[in-house]
Amino acid sequence: MPNFLDAIKGFGVTFGTMFKPPITEEYPEKPGPVAPRYHGRHQLNRYPDGLEKCIGCELCAWACPADAIYVEGADNTEDERFSPGERYGRVYQINYLRCIGCGLCIEACPTRALTMTNVYEMADDNRSDLIYGKDKLLAPLQPGMRPPPHAMAPGATDDDYYLGRITPSGGQERSDPGHRSSEEVAG
Ligand code: SF4
Ligand code: SF4
Repeated sequence: MPNFLDAIKGFGVTFGTMFKPPITEEYPEKPGPVAPRYHGRHQLNRYPDGLEKCIGCELCAWACPADAIYVEGADNTEDERFSPGERYGRVYQINYLRCIGCGLCIEACPTRALTMTNVYEMADDNRSDLIYGKDKLLAPLQPGMRPPPHAMAPGATDDDYYLGRITPSGGQERSDPGHRSSEEVAG
């Protein structure tokens, strides 16, 4: 008798579903929305003057359970500066054949250089095109940003960058230490 009741309960789900209107996703003509915090393609963010936030520390790579991230850091020089402070990410790769979208890498990043966008259309038919480098991962330059390498804002320290005190024109401003740029929030 208990088995019979279990079967009735199971069919209850089936019958309940039969009378609901069908939901048809018109993909790829009309891609549906994703949740605001969906874990899509990664993005390497910039400071408002265009310098890169990545310092090549490799914490994201060490945090990754799928061994999907490869980073090679290098030293900034006064003549060739890509990020505030001593180091920048000279090589940065994410292998999307390995990535499981867990987001542990973005939690590990100390400078909020790495975030995830809502972009999910990344299917491809070969391995090399699914290993994304800085050319695909770096956030595009926004109005007012200059492409690195270039010097830090006059008189600014790396702390001013980390604390969000840099304006797009390369000046300094006082702001909330938790400040995040608009493109980073969108990511
Ligand atoms: S989302 Fe997860 S699996 Fe993908 S690169 Fe980041 S830590 Fe690795
Ligand atoms: S993305 Fe973040 S955690 Fe990864 S190397 Fe760059 S600064 Fe370090």
